[in-house]
Amino acid sequence: MSRTIIVSNRLPTKAHRTAEGLHFTPSEGGLATGLGSIYKADDNIWVGWPGLEIADPAEQEAVTAELKADSMAPVFLTQDEIRDFYEGFSNETLWPTFHYFSQHAVYEQTYWEAYVSVNEKFCQAVLALAGPEDTIWVHDYQLLLLPQLLRAARPESSIGFFLHIPFPSHELIRVLPWRRELLEGMLGADLIGFHTYGYMRHFLSSVAQLLGCPSQNGLIEAGQRSVLVDAFPMGIDYDKYAQVAESEEARESEQLYRDALNDARVILSIDRLDYTKGIAERLRAYEQMLRLYPEWRERVTLLMLVVPSRDQVEKYRALKVEIDELVGRINADYRTIGWTPIQYFYRSFPLEHLSGLYRLAEVALVTPMRDGMNLVAKEFIASKGNLPGVLILSERAGAARELSDAIIINPTDTRQLAEAMHEALVMPEDEQRQRMSQMQALVKEYSVYHWVKLFMDRLAYIKIKQQTLA
Ligand code: UDP
Repeated sequence: MSRTIIVSNRLPTKAHRTAEGLHFTPSEGGLATGLGSIYKADDNIWVGWPGLEIADPAEQEAVTAELKADSMAPVFLTQDEIRDFYEGFSNETLWPTFHYFSQHAVYEQTYWEAYVSVNEKFCQAVLALAGPEDTIWVHDYQLLLLPQLLRAARPESSIGFFLHIPFPSHELIRVLPWRRELLEGMLGADLIGFHTYGYMRHFLSSVAQLLGCPSQNGLIEAGQRSVLVDAFPMGIDYDKYAQVAESEEARESEQLYRDALNDARVILSIDRLDYTKGIAERLRAYEQMLRLYPEWRERVTLLMLVVPSRDQVEKYRALKVEIDELVGRINADYRTIGWTPIQYFYRSFPLEHLSGLYRLAEVALVTPMRDGMNLVAKEFIASKGNLPGVLILSERAGAARELSDAIIINPTDTRQLAEAMHEALVMPEDEQRQRMSQMQALVKEYSVYHWVKLFMDRLAYIKIKQQTLA
């Protein structure tokens, strides 16, 4: 029977070292959450890095055995690889470039060399597991070279690739010294998926302008092969979020926060620490809202969760300091003895608590500068059930292409964002429910299961079509 091999930089589980030895917890991030419910089906397997350096061969063996029982296969990275491939090329070169933050990008040959060699390492790990009949589904920007490496070893295999971050204008791609290798690496796949048609168009134009490969209706002529490119907006496990939101634990945690906040209205923001998420800009807009509409002082609280992320990268440390200072200053300027304008948490929360917060919040602020999709927006919607609530959403999140019943804003327009918060707080409940239920219908229908099925069906389709084209 043919299996699906999922390959991503991170496994959906993360290893931690404690005094008692290694233990595993689920990873944060959209990909781990999204595919988490899929890979355990049938004989499928997920190949990836367990998130920690594990150098001792005996320990590697034990971890491999433990993960195998859970349908996972680890790729072990050395400390140098973590620094140069992961923190370096992936997070300091590709991440800023693809999110239109080229000014933060580092162009370092040693990072690139590590990126090549780690992609090769992943290739070997996959080849050791995958049979010729198996379908290989590679994920995300850390593994852009992997489709081509796999193709060279297995010319007939079904290989899919999905990019979870934006694909920017070719003007940004062309800045990269390794643009040709990166684009050719992706073209090793039979099907290349993006969250939106916008990203897909940018990719087609990069491939046309930088590699000279023409395309028609999303079909690229890449040498002897045809490669299909399409948009697949990723969804969430809607029913899971809806059910957890109805649970006793979620209700209890909602009540706990409601009591602690003295029944203030709640604006919620949840992100990983990242300069693409627009966290500092959001804080400035919230402050402006308190200035423009003083009637909300003592009556509204911004509940802001920032999940620690990439804290070894200098830009992220600097951002953390900026956010800490902004929160401190705004709280000091506006607080009263019984009211704190911003309740700021720098940690990750278990699902039941997140769910309680999604229930609690009247308004969710999802205002990234750039975001491939943004799952928090969809989770908020799925968790609301029959409760009212308003989503304020950046036009530069992939999710904005689908969630047109949100209040859509430009995240650099501080004034517009401040006005949107006020508008959300005074929106009549009828209108809130109407917008919410329209978004719920959409998020429910286009779930993560639907996303996987669509992608797999398209991959099967292009494999057949390639034969008629050959
Ligand atoms: N999340 C989490 N723990 C937290 C806060 C958030 O696991 O304390 C999850 C959240 O539920 C969502 C994911 O992290 O599924 C963030 O995905 P998103 O697409 O919004 O952003 P990304 O982090 O992938 O850039």
